[in-house]
Amino acid sequence: MEFIKAVLVALVMLLIGDFLSTFFYHVPEHIFGKFHTLVHHSKNRSFIHYAVLTKNPLVLLDGLLGAVPYFMFVPWFWAISPPGTVLGLLFGEFHVVWRHTSMLNYQTPVFIERLCNLLLITTPERHWLHHQDAKVAYGDIFTFYDQPARAWFRVLLLLKKKFRKIGARRNKQYLETDTFTARIQ
Ligand SMILES: [Zn+2]
Ligand SMILES: [Zn+2]
Repeated sequence: MEFIKAVLVALVMLLIGDFLSTFFYHVPEHIFGKFHTLVHHSKNRSFIHYAVLTKNPLVLLDGLLGAVPYFMFVPWFWAISPPGTVLGLLFGEFHVVWRHTSMLNYQTPVFIERLCNLLLITTPERHWLHHQDAKVAYGDIFTFYDQPARAWFRVLLLLKKKFRKIGARRNKQYLETDTFTARIQ
């Protein structure tokens, strides 16, 4: 019973963590920010770099911001099951390192790959697709966050374009009134 409780707590923790991290940090950061793209998607970076094993403060900050949703609810999970909380955090930490092993020419064994496909867990090969093309393969841990994340990506992109248009229109109006006042003075 305790074991099942621990596994469930770990699972819920990872589900919530990946959800919040994907929809409130990762996708918005791709649309409105430059930081994650700069740190996580630039070419010729090493495994150490991507797996947040480096001591570079920018890399650590990107990793930390992405990890906040996993730590946010620790006190609640801890109250339900301390071993489950530890299990969830350990799996999260293991997965962030593992999903970046593609850079070491690591190849997921067929058996593990099948298991991951069955459990809808992101493999290093799948995560590498995201590094190559920021529009695909969302869901750091769970693959089923990919489709809704892509839809969220499109919505935010449209919003950004709208904001830009409004901004450009305001600028134009401002410039026009400015030249008008300059003319009548
Ligand atoms: Zn990555
Ligand atoms: Zn990304």
